[in-house]
Amino acid sequence: MRTAVFPGSFDPFTLGHLDVVTSTLKLVDEVVIAVGYNSAKKGFFTPENRIRIIEASIAPLLAQGYRIRVCQYTGLTIDFCRQENISILIRGLRTTADFEQETIIAQANKRLYPELETIFIPASQQTCFLSSTVVRDVMLHQGDVSLFIAPNINLDDYR
Ligand code: ADP
Repeated sequence: MRTAVFPGSFDPFTLGHLDVVTSTLKLVDEVVIAVGYNSAKKGFFTPENRIRIIEASIAPLLAQGYRIRVCQYTGLTIDFCRQENISILIRGLRTTADFEQETIIAQANKRLYPELETIFIPASQQTCFLSSTVVRDVMLHQGDVSLFIAPNINLDDYR
């Protein structure tokens, strides 16, 4: 079985992230969404709630029979991949800035874990502007974020 890891902060998980997961499911049998947690960096949502938001977001895909797991990890992403015996890492690309940053990380990861292959998934036209930062900013100013996250999720329930 071919498994890929999609790591990130997911603070919170957006329709952009969901889009990347949906595309990845066309390439592999299973996707592990790995929520990286850095104790020195206080998030907007707790790691537990980030996981709950992801689980609610992927529920329709799970109901369709797709294999998706949600995990939490600390430390280096490559150490998580090694531990889980996963050699495919997925990252989404929105802009050239993403490309520059992600290429450097992919090269460093390859040095540290040569078996690892990074695959970049381009953002869709509908979500290429979307980031967790945008969602947090809109929320902080009591704006409507419903267009940015999976339907039927009220992010206020997770704060
Ligand atoms: P990190 O803090 O590790 O960058 P994020 O949660 O911000 O974590 O993003 C996780 C991954 O999802 C990254 O590869 C990021 O480029 C990608 N991503 C975020 N938003 C989008 C989007 N709208 N479309 C495609 N990929 C995205």
